Amino acid sequence: MNVNWVRLFNNKVSDLEYSDHWNIIKDDNLLPSRSPTGWNFYKTSSFARFHCSTCPNKWASAKALIIFSMRLQNGEGEVKVRFCKQQCRQNHAVEANFVEPVFDEENIKQVLNRLIAKIQQRCYHESIGKRTTWCESNVKVQGPHEKKHCEACKLGICTEES
Ligand SMILES: [Zn+2]
Ligand SMILES: [Zn+2]
Repeated sequence: MNVNWVRLFNNKVSDLEYSDHWNIIKDDNLLPSRSPTGWNFYKTSSFARFHCSTCPNKWASAKALIIFSMRLQNGEGEVKVRFCKQQCRQNHAVEANFVEPVFDEENIKQVLNRLIAKIQQRCYHESIGKRTTWCESNVKVQGPHEKKHCEACKLGICTEES
């Protein structure tokens, strides 16, 4: 798992007013439909870049999907995260790999702020008065959404219109 995510997550949870220990791990098989009881599911998206692993092509997405599942039990908080991958649209002799999004630190922080708000609501039953808002990046994103290159579409959890 990307060290920035872990470091920034640890920073954020240390600000919580509770003594529980929280941990974040990557789970590439995480699915909303498979969330067992006791786990809280949360889905969000953020601006990210993708780099093809087969050719030099790079692209950006304003709504790279991230899914989380979290649970607090006996003083141990666990968060599982899955980053939905995308596939290069260039022609490849062999089908290109689906690759993970790369997020800027600023975007990671915004995502984590929303995640922590969810943890406060669902795991600590705090009422969060103000809605967490975020500004979408105004970076121009190329082309329409192509479902066949989107892992979230394949999983049936994508919110993006084609
Ligand atoms: Zn490619
Ligand atoms: Zn999609």
